[in-house]
Amino acid sequence: MATHDRRYVIIGNGVAGTTAADTLRKNDPNCSIHLLTNEPYPLYNRVSLPRFLQGVIVEQKVMIRDFAWHEQRNIQLITETMVTQVDTEAKTVSTDDGKTLPYDALLVATGGWANPLNVPGAAGTQHIYNFVTLDDTKTIIARMLESRTALAYGGSFISYELCDGFAVRKLDTTWLMRGPFWLRTALDPDGGEVVDNIAKKFGVHVIHGDEIESIVPTNGVPGYVKTKKGREIQADMIGVGLGITLNTQILANTPIETRGGVVVDEYLETNVPGVFAAGDVAEFYDTTIAKHHTMGTWDNALAHGRIAGLNMAGGREAYLDVPTYTSPLFDVNIAVVGTAESNNPELTSIARREPGEKGNENYRKLFFREKKLVGVLMIGSPKGRKKLVEIVKSQQDIDMPADREALLQLK
Ligand SMILES: Cc1cc2nc3c(=O)[nH]c(=O)nc-3n(C[C@H](O)[C@H](O)[C@H](O)COP(=O)(O)OP(=O)(O)OC[C@H]3O[C@@H](n4cnc5c(N)ncnc54)[C@H](O)[C@@H]3O)c2cc1C
Repeated sequence: MATHDRRYVIIGNGVAGTTAADTLRKNDPNCSIHLLTNEPYPLYNRVSLPRFLQGVIVEQKVMIRDFAWHEQRNIQLITETMVTQVDTEAKTVSTDDGKTLPYDALLVATGGWANPLNVPGAAGTQHIYNFVTLDDTKTIIARMLESRTALAYGGSFISYELCDGFAVRKLDTTWLMRGPFWLRTALDPDGGEVVDNIAKKFGVHVIHGDEIESIVPTNGVPGYVKTKKGREIQADMIGVGLGITLNTQILANTPIETRGGVVVDEYLETNVPGVFAAGDVAEFYDTTIAKHHTMGTWDNALAHGRIAGLNMAGGREAYLDVPTYTSPLFDVNIAVVGTAESNNPELTSIARREPGEKGNENYRKLFFREKKLVGVLMIGSPKGRKKLVEIVKSQQDIDMPADREALLQLK
């Protein structure tokens, strides 16, 4: 490992960037570390934002690190500063306050920003919200407290988190999505119906196969939305979950390869030596499905951060993890393990739906690549999840239909 005073720059202080900074300090006591973010906060837990939105936890519980933590480790945390450009020839990054920082190794851990709602009437209308940051959450909470009706828009994880938050706060909530069911890139009509039934129990009006045509504001706030199929939906506020665009723009004038995300090898290094990427923004080589892809989960970003930090400090460790995602879904849970993508033509899947607890149903879907289990999606009971994670990790062959069916009932 390196011992002299190397200069490390990390763009983005989410869980990937902050974990990388911590790992660098542990492995390289003499180096300098600059950790930059456009946000005003040290690391906070994005996964906790939905519970903060619902009023289940207070803001303090969302925070993970404070400024003192960085000072104690001699990590220069620079907040409210946007990196505007990377120069891989000069090995510098430039910031929006006119500064230039040199680096010996660079980590891009910039995550993504939410796609805005671009329909007639949206521009200039207040109370249309994305939901990614702590500041987004505070603004949405303030508006929820003065609203009666709300619309959650989209078929993504974020749209259901918004919908859940509105419903728990007792707003008259509509959940509108263009697709035929929620999470259409992973579920199927059966799984979609299981989720709808849970949402409806909370009084949510669920609408599929329709989209916002325009917003009809009254005095600059959304009065109601018009949909393409002619509906008019009252909404004092609109929560938008239309996916994210990964933050690769600052690399536009560099030779660093980007597609949807920043392309890295299994060591999380880009095609430009000394430049790494980690977390949501990294398009990494996933050994379980033998191809590059991005993954927007906390565990993945955390594990990436550790590996990137190690390798920036001179190590050589490959990323071989199986990321998992668990989250409350109204009064049940949803868990995703590995790669669960119905739209991936290389994967086959089987699913099972059965009665569960509290009048809900359990739904489980398994994804296979050739003979191996590579992904799991569970709604409702999480029983058997740990064993399934182990099976995905083990990469064992599961070829016989009966053996695959048995996994659908594994407890
Ligand atoms: C509401 C919500 C709920 C979620 N729930 C779950 C869950 O239940 N389970 C789960 O596994 N995952 C969940 N996720 C996803 C998870 O939070 C992310 O996968 C994870 O936080 C990604 O971490 P990251 O470090 O890669 O990026 P981020 O946390 O996105 O951090 C990137 C940081 O870089 C900053 N940045 C970007 N560009 C620049 C620039 N040019 N200059 C300076 N700073 C820049 C960004 O503003 C941001 O602060 C949730 C996400 C959200 C938003």
